[in-house]
Amino acid sequence: MSNPPILLWLRQDLRFDNNPAMRIAAETGKPVICIYIFDNTLKDEQAMGGAQRWWLHHTLTAFQKDLKKREGALILRRGDPRIIIPSLAQETDADHVVWSRRYMPWQIDIDSEIKASLKEQDIQVLSINSSLLFEPWQIETKSGEPYRVFTPYWKTVQSRDDIPQSCSRVDKLEAPDTLPDTDVIEDWNLLPNSPDWSEGFGPLWNPGEKGARARLREWLDEDAAEYDDLRNRPDLNRTSRLSPHLHFGEISPVTVWHMVQQHISDGDIPEDQGKSYLSEIVWREFSYHLIYHNPLMFNDPLQDKFSKFEWNTDKNALKAWQKGQTGYPIVDAGMRQLWTEGWMHNRVRMIVGSFLVKDLLLDWQEGMAWFWDTLLDADGASNTASWQWIAGCGADAAPFFRVFNPTTQGEKFDPEGNYVRKYVPELKDLPKKYIHAPADAPAEILEKAGVKIGKTYPSPIVNHKERREEALSRYEKIK
Ligand code: FAD
Repeated sequence: MSNPPILLWLRQDLRFDNNPAMRIAAETGKPVICIYIFDNTLKDEQAMGGAQRWWLHHTLTAFQKDLKKREGALILRRGDPRIIIPSLAQETDADHVVWSRRYMPWQIDIDSEIKASLKEQDIQVLSINSSLLFEPWQIETKSGEPYRVFTPYWKTVQSRDDIPQSCSRVDKLEAPDTLPDTDVIEDWNLLPNSPDWSEGFGPLWNPGEKGARARLREWLDEDAAEYDDLRNRPDLNRTSRLSPHLHFGEISPVTVWHMVQQHISDGDIPEDQGKSYLSEIVWREFSYHLIYHNPLMFNDPLQDKFSKFEWNTDKNALKAWQKGQTGYPIVDAGMRQLWTEGWMHNRVRMIVGSFLVKDLLLDWQEGMAWFWDTLLDADGASNTASWQWIAGCGADAAPFFRVFNPTTQGEKFDPEGNYVRKYVPELKDLPKKYIHAPADAPAEILEKAGVKIGKTYPSPIVNHKERREEALSRYEKIK
């Protein structure tokens, strides 16, 4: 073949702007075949959860449209990439395959296997970082070790003068005249149907690169200047909500980093507010750093002693937590927000996480699995590191003995009770004094608000004080 095509295997980099792998492919001057594979051979805990599949359907649809405008074509395939990529390369006579690197342990194994098999076929593989500021091995302590504590990691990132520069948008990605067969996205059945619990996602989210950029711009214009002051207030909803866009690679963290820095330099965002946001972007990086250097933490507690912790196995308690029926309003509001919107505010993620582990005494892995299925931003690295952080068993984790009180957390971070009123409407007429502790309200107040504890709203399923003592005593046994 005179000008053999190049295969661009897209994964979590579904964008045209600031996408080094795509830029490399475009600059070869070869025809480009873009491919996305839905890997249906992964284990349950590795495969995309339900909410992510909803996002994938919409982001691929948006990407396909944008690619068409660039004279390109996206081939969709379902199955094992270890079989699909080498055979597609052979079928199309491609002499190069390009992709952005991935970092979850099983992804590294798959990609290494494919690389070896392509090399055997004399096909060149180019892989590059497109989803992190720094790859996990690029940041290390002075003695060359990986970090386990966030603050020094963050300091090192700030001291680096080699944050990647942005690379320009790809405007043309010409496909070859003859294209291999492709699936039709509708046949993948990615949208939930039994039940369809995704109704609430559409009005709130705009999957795809355009949606990601619009979200960033809106947040920069409206909320960034007060980010640090208000980021812990779920009732005010002032965080960027970029997490699913970042997870699917619809926007690069490099773009986010430079745009925020620019707004700081221009004086549009006070430095402390902007830096606080950048540190959250670096928490994402740190999660990847941790999982890359500790691949077993996806399944096991990073602190070994926690494998002996005595967890309860109470299916009813787990169900009550999942459905937002615990009798603790801030927990219930968070869990219902998650179910209806596919997302939950970070402060509330911490509160519901602590409640699962330290009040219900259920294994953090149960919580991690539920989040995996219901979060649009479910991310192997961030979800694992955050659950281990909240359970006290991870690196640089919140100490286990610091137990969140769900009532006082609610009063502090949802002071007017508006977050609870929105997601737990059966409590909406309670005065703010009792909105976070309805079971303590006098009978006449409950009656006036139309609340019947145990009927219209559950009584607390556990006694927080007692469970706190129990959690601490179980912790003593493994210390
Ligand atoms: P912003 O406050 O606007 O932050 C900007 C970006 O920084 C986020 O989009 C995200 O990419 C990153 N970020 C912020 N906080 C964290 C953090 N603590 N750890 C890692 N990255 C962070 N985040 C995920 O992206 N996927 C997950 O699966 C996930 N699971 C979590 C589970 C638990 C138990 C907890 C406590 C947190 C989890 N987080 C997860 C982290 C955090 O809650 C979300 O990233 C954040 O709420 C997303 O909202 P945002 O985009 O408005 O965040």
